Amino acid sequence: MIIDVHSHAWLFPQGFSEDFMRQAQRARAGKPVDLTVRYEDYAASAADTAKTIVFGGKARLSGLWVEDRFVAEYVAAQPDKLIGFLSVDPTQEGWQRELEHGHQELGLRGIKLLPMYAGFSPDDLALEPLWSYAEKHGLPVLLHMGTTFVAQAPLAFTLPRLIEPVAVRHPGVKIILAHLGHPYEGECIAVIRKHENVFADVSALHYRPFQLYHALMLAQEYGVWHKLLFGTDYPFTTVDASVKGLRELNAMLEGTALPRLNVAEIEALIHRESLRLLGLG
Ligand SMILES: [Zn+2]
Repeated sequence: MIIDVHSHAWLFPQGFSEDFMRQAQRARAGKPVDLTVRYEDYAASAADTAKTIVFGGKARLSGLWVEDRFVAEYVAAQPDKLIGFLSVDPTQEGWQRELEHGHQELGLRGIKLLPMYAGFSPDDLALEPLWSYAEKHGLPVLLHMGTTFVAQAPLAFTLPRLIEPVAVRHPGVKIILAHLGHPYEGECIAVIRKHENVFADVSALHYRPFQLYHALMLAQEYGVWHKLLFGTDYPFTTVDASVKGLRELNAMLEGTALPRLNVAEIEALIHRESLRLLGLG
C-alpha cells in the first residue's frame, strides 16, 4: 500500500488570486495547469493508496488562501482515506488562534507551512510558539521547500538549511521538507541526514526526470533513502504518474555507464510507512 504525504484540497479558483493563477502556468514548463481538486479524480489514479495527507495552504503574499475548515470538510468526507493538516501564515494577524482552532476544533493533525510563498523565514524566532506547539501536541510540520513559479516569493526563505536551527531547538518535531528542496536537493540531503526527525518528500519531481535521478543518486550516496517519503503534490500530478515516474528513472540511463538507482530502495520509498514515521500511525 502507498501513503501519499503531500496532496492538496482547495476550491479553484476561489482560493487563488488572479496573479497566482497567471503565474501558476509556469509550474510545468509548457504544460497548462488545471488546479481543480476532486477527490474522485485523485482516487481514480490512486488505487493502491491507503492514506493521503491533505492540506490547503495560506500565503497572503502570493495570493493563496484556503480556510482550514474547507480542508476539514474535504477530509471528513473520506475519513478512512484522508488525514488533514492545517495551515497558517505567520505574517498575518491571528495565526496562533488559527493554529489552535485547526488542531483542537477541526481535528487537523499536522501543519503545512509555505515560507517563501508567505514571505517568512522558517527559523524566525517569532515562530517559536508554533514549533513548541507542534512538539507538545505531536503535530508533524510539512514545509514547502525549494523554488516556485511565484515572482514575489523570496528564494532566501526556501533554503533547506533554514530548518537546521529549528531541528536543533526542537528535535522532537517531525519535519518534512517538500519536493526534496528542488533544486537545492544537495542541501536538503545534508539536513535530513543530520537530523533524525527531518524527512523529505519526493512530490512533484518526476516530471523533471534527470533532476530527480540526480537527487535520488545523492540520497543513495549519502545513505538517506530511508528519510525519503512518497508524495504527489496533487493536483499538479497524480499517484500513478508519480509511481511510474520513479520506476522509469533507471531506463533513462540505458546505453550509459551511469550508476543505477537501487530498485529495491525505489520500491521501499513508494511503499514507505510514512504515517508511522510521522507519529500518525
Ligand atoms: Zn504542494
